[in-house]
Amino acid sequence: MKLVDSHCHLDDKQFAADRDAVIDRARAAGVERLMAIGTGDGPPDLETAVRLADAFPFFYATVGVHPHDASKAVDESFDRLRDLLAHPKVLALGEIGLDYHYDFSPRDTQRAVFVRQIELAREAGIPIVIHTREAWTDTLQILRENYSGAGIFHCFTGGPAEAREALDLGFHLSFGGVLTFPKAEPVREAARLTPQDRLLVETDAPYLAPVPHRGKRNEPAFLVDTVRKLAEIRGTSPEELAAVTTRNFERLCLRYTG
Ligand SMILES: [Zn+2]
Ligand SMILES: [Zn+2]
Repeated sequence: MKLVDSHCHLDDKQFAADRDAVIDRARAAGVERLMAIGTGDGPPDLETAVRLADAFPFFYATVGVHPHDASKAVDESFDRLRDLLAHPKVLALGEIGLDYHYDFSPRDTQRAVFVRQIELAREAGIPIVIHTREAWTDTLQILRENYSGAGIFHCFTGGPAEAREALDLGFHLSFGGVLTFPKAEPVREAARLTPQDRLLVETDAPYLAPVPHRGKRNEPAFLVDTVRKLAEIRGTSPEELAAVTTRNFERLCLRYTG
């Protein structure tokens, strides 16, 4: 199987002691390419993923301010993001969006920083990676009013109704470990109805490890467990799903690298 992990946080300090071994296990499991998400601990350091992409040929990067860190963003942060979007291995802007579960930043600040980053993505013609938690209505409204380009709803945890809304906006849905959780039947329904050409897979490592690793630190090698589950749900083979999701990643993100 040749896989792309479309969303992982390997800059995280949970990987400080054994990052190289984690990367070796990923490659041995067939995860040939990884998209490092560059939100880190927020501004001023916006380059956590770029450093990985510079160090390893099989890593790509995103840059962006996570909604948790929205209140740390200042004018210079957006200028820096604009510069970083020109880096040849930065393929998307994200993860950006709204998180009303933790409310680490005030909601009006989250919305303003989300909109400002959408403008940067539009200007650069680069896809966006959306994080949304307990903020579905506002997320959709902001996207409808401000964006008509391509993007990914990462770690999709909505049900069929939310999936249809996101798909209507032209977005891809990326499924992760939650798909394997016993109570996640609505997420599995969403995964069943997603058209083949809009599917992606991710780990979101170190978070949300799939069954049978649930509760442990997640790592890209565990993507295989999510892919097996997704194949079972959709009545196809893991190999076919690996090919489909790799093709989708290439079409969505690599066309911008020229
Ligand atoms: Zn997220
Ligand atoms: Zn993430």
